[in-house]
Formats: sequence, C-alpha cells, structure tokens
Amino acid sequence: MRYDYLIVGAGLFGAVFAKEMSRIGKSCLVIDKREHIAGNIYTEEIAGIQVHKYGAHIFHTSDKRIWDYVQQYARLNHYINSPVAVYGDELYNLPFNMNTFNKLWGVKTPAEAKARIMEQIEGLGLGEPHNLEEQALSLVGPDVYTKLIKGYTEKQWGRDCKELPSFIIRRLPLRFVYDNNYFTDRYQGIPEGGYTGMVEKMLKGVPLKLGISYREFLEANSAKGEEADSFRKVLYTGMIDEYFDYCFGELQYRSLRFEEELLTGCENYQGNAVVNYTEREVPYTRIIEHKHFEFGTQPDTVITREYPVEWKRGDEPYYPVNDERNNALYAKYAGLASREKNVLFGGRLGQYRYYDMDKVIAAALDMAAAEI
Ligand code: UDP
Repeated sequence: MRYDYLIVGAGLFGAVFAKEMSRIGKSCLVIDKREHIAGNIYTEEIAGIQVHKYGAHIFHTSDKRIWDYVQQYARLNHYINSPVAVYGDELYNLPFNMNTFNKLWGVKTPAEAKARIMEQIEGLGLGEPHNLEEQALSLVGPDVYTKLIKGYTEKQWGRDCKELPSFIIRRLPLRFVYDNNYFTDRYQGIPEGGYTGMVEKMLKGVPLKLGISYREFLEANSAKGEEADSFRKVLYTGMIDEYFDYCFGELQYRSLRFEEELLTGCENYQGNAVVNYTEREVPYTRIIEHKHFEFGTQPDTVITREYPVEWKRGDEPYYPVNDERNNALYAKYAGLASREKNVLFGGRLGQYRYYDMDKVIAAALDMAAAEI
C-alpha cells in the first residue's frame, strides 16, 4: 500500500494531523507503541468514572479557533479547575489569590495583600530574576514561595529552584481578586465521556496499528520486501533524541509514577478533583479524584497519587526539562531534524516543548496547513 503519511504516535498531535490530512483525501497510517490511542490524555472508565490514566488533563484555551475545533469531537463540560494546596495541616486555595492571602495573613483587601507582599520582597535585594526561585520570590515573596512553591516545584522537577527556568512558574497566576479559577483562559472544560472518545472520533476511519514501536514497524515493513508499505512522509511525535539514537546524548525528561486506588463505598474522598501537597517531605505532588472532573455521583471513587521521578530509558517521558543545557542539546537535534527532508517532528516529545493541549492542537493544525 502507498500512503501519504506514516504518523508515529496516536496522541493528540498525531490524531489532529491525521484528521486534517485525511479530510483532504491524503492517506495516513497511524502507529503507536502503546496498546491504546490518545497518548497521555488517555482516559479509561473505572467504576463508571473516567480515569485520567497518565495524569490529570484539563482543557483550557483562549483561542476561539481551537475551542471551536474541539467541539467537533467532544462536548466539553463546565469544569473549572480550582486546586487546593495542603501544607502540613494548613490548606490554601490556588492559584495565589485573595482567598490564599486572607488565609495566610488575615488580610482582606487587595491593597493590604499587595502591601504585605511588598513588605516581604523589600529587603531581599532582588534584581532581574535569573531562575525560578528569584522569579517566585520577586512575585510573591518568601511566605508563599516557601509554603506553596518551593517544595512542590523541587519535587516535581527533581532540581533546586535556583536551577530551574523561571517560565515554569509563569504558568501559575497571581491575582488580587477572590477567584480560585486556576486558569486565566476564556474557555475551559473536560470532554464528557473522556478524552479517549474525543481522539477516537478524530481517528475515525484512519488505519491504525497499535502495540508497535516505530523501529519494530520499520523492521516488520522492510521484511515484507516487495510487499512493503511506502510512505511519502513521516510525522514523528516520539522523543526526538531517541529518533536520532541519542547521538548527541540524552535529553532529560521528568517522569511520573501513578498510584491509582479504587475506593469502594467511598463516595467523596477529598471534595475536589485536584489537591496539591506542597511539602517536600510528602513524596507525591498531588492526589487526583477523577470523578470531580465530571461532577460524578457514583457510589465509589478513584484517586491517583502522582509521584514525580527522574526519567531513565524505558520510562514514560512526561515533561521536557527546558533548562539551558537541555534546550541547547535540543537545538542540536532540531538541526538534524530540519535536514530530514521527509520527516516532520511534532508534539511535546518531538519538539521538546512543555505544550498545553490547546497549543498541541494549534501546532498540529498549523503543520497540516503548511503541508497542504
Ligand atoms: N506549582 C507550585 N505549586 C503548586 C502548583 C504548581 O509551585 O501548588 C508550580 C510548579 O513549579 C509547577 C508549575 O507551577 O511545575 C506548573 O504547575 P501545573 O500544575 O500547572 O503543571 P502541570 O503538571 O499541570 O503541567
């Protein structure tokens, strides 16, 4: 069979690209080394609850084009992410807002909160922030930094906050209103019935081979000799360093270990979908109670503890570590990639970028448009 595209990875990037190219009559074959589609946004039903098997995913965007695009494949509910943070026996609202400041310091007005933060920042002698610690301190001061940022961040990234890029913390908004909505985006929600159904719809009618890695696929295909399938182009959404056999060395990733528990007879375990544990001493970063993403009323509940771990070969990579060293290494791989005439690289792993889902979709649509 002659295909236009071989798409390596049935995650969000691959699925959007496959959909767009199929829509204009290009033939695609999608392969994935896992036994299921949807990559890390994969959800699975357990006790009637959609469980986010590779970590919680909350869809949010300010881009109307992307929001409208997603509506074609899913009905998004009205979930708003409002995590709470546990620090010892204290509990705070996130993101940092007037509720947090009131609980921390007893302040009631924005002016009081700002004055309190200013008081804390003055005297630290901070200039232009060079790393995450300096960025956080200069934004919120030492109280918030110590209780709600430092431990969590160092657990999640396995590095000192002084060695981390400040952009990571810019994901966390700071606001002076009583508003616990974590995201500032205009649109937000979770696909009713789970993300897997959404990706299934995108991939409808597209030939798919699961449980086979790119390497295995190439070997099996070339073993077919004359009968081998051919492809005009490849879209590769796996790890870019792996594609090039780690020829310049390994990029670093953060991985996660999930401890999932079905609590039979427990209707509501923690009263919120996301509870962060911001102390360094607690080994997990958060507990997710999946039913709350869909306002579930089932008699049981499923919770997942999320333990960050350093990635090593064979583990699932979740987050690129976009510090200077890794970005420089990535740039070398990107140089090689640009010389691969018939191979496109996409997604969090193919582009080594801490993409949110809406940005993944936008990038895949742009790549498809450029192809067309
Ligand atoms: N963060 C933090 N305290 C928290 C939650 C997040 O300091 O309670 C910081 C941390 O550095 C983290 C970043 O904000 O890496 C982004 O967190 P988010 O939960 O948005 O990341 P996700 O894992 O959902 O992509």
